[in-house]
Amino acid sequence: MAVECIFCRIINKEIPSNPFKETDEIIVIKDINPKAPIHYLIIPKKHIQDIQSFESHDSDLAGKLLLAARDLSQTLPGSSDFKLVVNSGKQAGQCVFHVHLHFLAGKKFSEI
Ligand code: 5GP
Ligand code: ZN
Repeated sequence: MAVECIFCRIINKEIPSNPFKETDEIIVIKDINPKAPIHYLIIPKKHIQDIQSFESHDSDLAGKLLLAARDLSQTLPGSSDFKLVVNSGKQAGQCVFHVHLHFLAGKKFSEI
């Protein structure tokens, strides 16, 4: 747990978030500033700064983040098609340095 990390504070219940889904390893919350009609954040509970910081032993957890996206798609009406975005590093637009997947759906997206 990184004390100053907003997502760690959410995971730790210091900040209420009304999680859509929570397991021992992952939490899924609505983005506070949605960029699409459906915008969730899939966040590992383990504080990992970014994708560059994943270690080999995080491979199971990394896979679970993708499976959480699959589950969201199957659960949320209107999200059978979706876009996943990971901003990894400041130059890529990352603002919260606790790795997370943006799950975006509910509109037509342009290609990357
Ligand atoms: P990043 O730019 O790091 O990839 O995305 C961070 C995301 O976290 C942004 O889309 C922002 O709206 C969202 N966010 C930042 N603080 C909070 C918060 O306290 N609660 C929630 N639910 N989302 C947050
Ligand atoms: Zn954190």
